[in-house]
Amino acid sequence: MTSLSPSPHGALPTVGFIGLGNMGSGMTKNLQAAGYPLVVTDLRRESAATLLDGGARWAESPREVAAASDLVITMLPTPKHVAAVAAGADGLVAGLADGGTWIDMSTSVPEVLEGIRQAEAHRGLHLLDAPVSGMSVGAANGMLQIFVGGEADEVARLRPVFEAMGDPERILHVGGHGAGYAVKLMINQLWFSHLVATAEVLSVGVAAGVDLGVLRDALVASPANSNFVEHDVLSILDHGDYDEGFAIALACKDLGLSVDLARSVGMPVELSSLVEQIFRRARAQYGDRAGEMTPVRLYEELLGQDLRRESPIEVAA
Ligand code: NAD
Repeated sequence: MTSLSPSPHGALPTVGFIGLGNMGSGMTKNLQAAGYPLVVTDLRRESAATLLDGGARWAESPREVAAASDLVITMLPTPKHVAAVAAGADGLVAGLADGGTWIDMSTSVPEVLEGIRQAEAHRGLHLLDAPVSGMSVGAANGMLQIFVGGEADEVARLRPVFEAMGDPERILHVGGHGAGYAVKLMINQLWFSHLVATAEVLSVGVAAGVDLGVLRDALVASPANSNFVEHDVLSILDHGDYDEGFAIALACKDLGLSVDLARSVGMPVELSSLVEQIFRRARAQYGDRAGEMTPVRLYEELLGQDLRRESPIEVAA
């Protein structure tokens, strides 16, 4: 396996990065700050401007990124985008050296990498899945949670690269190839389910005449408390912020993949399917680019008022 340790001259390996959107822009900023030379590309060249000013190299195709790098990271919207970047004469796979490394950090499904692993078995490629949690703010401040699927030696070798983007305490090796994708989809499924359940009980409680702040505090003090009720819902209750850093179109993509995963393993998921439909309704109503927490607005409309606390309390970031 190609070593990713610093060279005898102390130089860090060159990282190729494809997908400089809400997440990739923060992740590359932190890789660059940690000293990794970067070769980058995106459909929008302007998304690389700051990185190029900082010394990163622009590549015209995924193939060129892979050919010029010691390892490649992708951070793309959907499995379809991942497959498109990988394939063809100008694709990432064509540019990887035999024995090369590609880490897909997108929220995706195992099929794309698995197909390549089988088709290119003779080349000894290292293809890992390492999706993340922590929102665009976590990407920007280098505190992502990273869920890595791969062999133990691959994960150990790549840990310094992950540590440049994530919280060292929450970089988890969760199993073999594909396990990272599955864990990430289940995390999102549960979080989105918390969101819908919370919006529902807050709306009913307020309609029944309870003060919103009192109701939320009572939930926090109760056995029904959750991270969502205690922390995440406050961005709406105190700031009217539905998190446009993660588009609802991508949330719907994640929920669709989650339900597909359940189908593929033969598990009925009545609740997950319902949550997916509620998110799809919000997407149809408020548009693809609305924030991931926008389904709460469906309940606010039914209630006839926004869910806002009287006296916002400042919460440490
Ligand atoms: P985004 O849409 O902001 O960024 C995606 C980037 O990929 C864009 O810059 C786009 O131009 C680029 N791209 C698309 N196709 C390309 C191609 N063929 N070649 C080169 N570049 C291409 O998406 P995001 O919010 O950064 O999310 C990326 C992934 O991370 C998704 O899978 C998402 O589900 C996941 N994720 C997002 C968040 C979040 O809070 N935004 C949190 C955790 C995980």
